[in-house]
Amino acid sequence: MKKRLFTPGPTPIPENVALAMAQPIIHHRNPEFIEIFSRVNENLKYLFQTKQDVYTLTSSGTGAMEAAVANLLSFGDKAIFVNGGKFGERWGEICRAYGVDAIEIKIEWGRAVTPEEVRDELKKHRDVKAVFVTHSETSTGVFTDVKELAEVVHENSDAVIVVDGITSVGAHELYMDDWGLDVVITGSQKGLMIPPGLSFIALSEKAWKMVEKSNLPKYYFSLKKARKALQNGDTPWTPAIALIVALDVALKMIKDEGLENIWKRHEKLSKAVREGCKAIGLKLFGNPPSHAVTAVYFPDGIDKKEFQKVLKYKYGITVAGGQEHLKDKIFRISHLGYYDEIDIVGVISALEMALAEVGFDEFKLGDGVKAVQKVFAEYEKIEVKQGGNDEFLSCCH
Ligand SMILES: *Cc1c(COP(=O)(O)O)cnc(C)c1O
Repeated sequence: MKKRLFTPGPTPIPENVALAMAQPIIHHRNPEFIEIFSRVNENLKYLFQTKQDVYTLTSSGTGAMEAAVANLLSFGDKAIFVNGGKFGERWGEICRAYGVDAIEIKIEWGRAVTPEEVRDELKKHRDVKAVFVTHSETSTGVFTDVKELAEVVHENSDAVIVVDGITSVGAHELYMDDWGLDVVITGSQKGLMIPPGLSFIALSEKAWKMVEKSNLPKYYFSLKKARKALQNGDTPWTPAIALIVALDVALKMIKDEGLENIWKRHEKLSKAVREGCKAIGLKLFGNPPSHAVTAVYFPDGIDKKEFQKVLKYKYGITVAGGQEHLKDKIFRISHLGYYDEIDIVGVISALEMALAEVGFDEFKLGDGVKAVQKVFAEYEKIEVKQGGNDEFLSCCH
């Protein structure tokens, strides 16, 4: 059976990326690797839309989150974090583990923080050093306008804005330098289409000044050590060589497609998933929606376990469940990274069949697929004809 991963990390890996990892291992002080690493570093700057160096750490995404906290702040510093989901909450947990005075903006999971809420908190705490936010909250499928938040942070404080872009980089428009984002992080098993094991972090000049002063403990994730090593095109410790070789191939694919086209593709695929779900009679969770992942309520009265079993064992499709209090309430369909139109037709079609099989009958087979095709037709400007009571696609260009 074909395995079809529709989870927001890990995400599917293109065949040529997987093949790159099957090559014999090379040594990281070897010119061959140094050339790959320098190309990777250039392409990461393109991905982040920054002139700053992007540091590749050997860890999952949380490692880069921890690196941000440990390298920017000092004992007793105040920081604001937005808890609008599992990953926003994590910023607070990491801050507290390091003795940072973490001020929480807790919002109902399923919506985005407003600029006013951030402004109010900044006005209450004039001495805040950093504001931690999540661009695409993977646990709720909610998008946050970090461009707008960066303006609020810079207008109302001297704090840096630190953006968890783990499921937004490579899915949503993001211009690190132009938008004044001081720190951006991402991870390898999300929009970058390679396996878990690498995380990435870039810092503005202002953020680097804080790194100079930071007195929190750090060793493996010391960004000063990483910066020193990168001056010689190197890393302080043995990097995950095979993953970086794979990353080189993935970043070439990203460059070839073009960031703007990639952002547009994610917008289109995510819209198609939402329209497909609505046409089946499923209710969406979370607003405004992320282009990386769609959160959907389980319909009432179905056997949720059986539904997921049918999806997985009959159609090879793995979707993600909900986290914390959203467990058993929602499931999440990812469309982050290596996906195309036909993948989306397939997942919506499988949802329909699995739902029909567990007795959910508030739709006709094909309703969801038709809605998906209609979204694609609109993007491609293909004419949609009316045929009797049914609409159908008239032609293809
Ligand atoms: C996946 C993810 C992380 C990091 O998780 P890891 O399991 O450490 O890679 C952090 N934030 C967001 C928004 C994520 O989607």
